Amino acid sequence: MEEEEAATLDWMDQAFDMAKEALECGEVPVGCLLVHNGQAIGRGRNEVNETKNATRHAEMVAIDRVLDWCKQHNRDYTEVFPQTVLYVTVEPCIMCAAAVRLMSILSCLFMLGNQMLKCYSFGNTGEPFECVSGYRAKEAVEMLKAFYRQENPNAPKSKVRKKDHRN
Ligand SMILES: [Zn+2]
Repeated sequence: MEEEEAATLDWMDQAFDMAKEALECGEVPVGCLLVHNGQAIGRGRNEVNETKNATRHAEMVAIDRVLDWCKQHNRDYTEVFPQTVLYVTVEPCIMCAAAVRLMSILSCLFMLGNQMLKCYSFGNTGEPFECVSGYRAKEAVEMLKAFYRQENPNAPKSKVRKKDHRN
């Protein structure tokens, strides 16, 4: 195996572990890593339910961690992000993809996705980024399935009840 490929799989494994942690905490299992010069300077997993904030996706959490890292290390984030690679278990949603572009993150590698990113229209919101997918995709699917098999305790149940009354 090529050295670079081995490193990629290692980062993906770590992103996968973050997703597992999310699942254990009752969150949609998505995890990610932002890697700069061979170092993970930002990690994130979904924190939407925990924080009751719908924008707390793994990628947004990790981006915030990188901003903290830049402050701590006296680095200019506009120079750090363009040399940073995102490893994420599931293809970023449109919000996160837009954030990735706005921060000029170098490239985005994900395990699972249908390359919808190429279809999104971002206008002039930053640099286009490279997308690679397919790592451990089957496992990533299984983890999502495991989540959706469970009852989501935070999901509103009123809609189901209304339907019952109508019948
Ligand atoms: Zn997202």
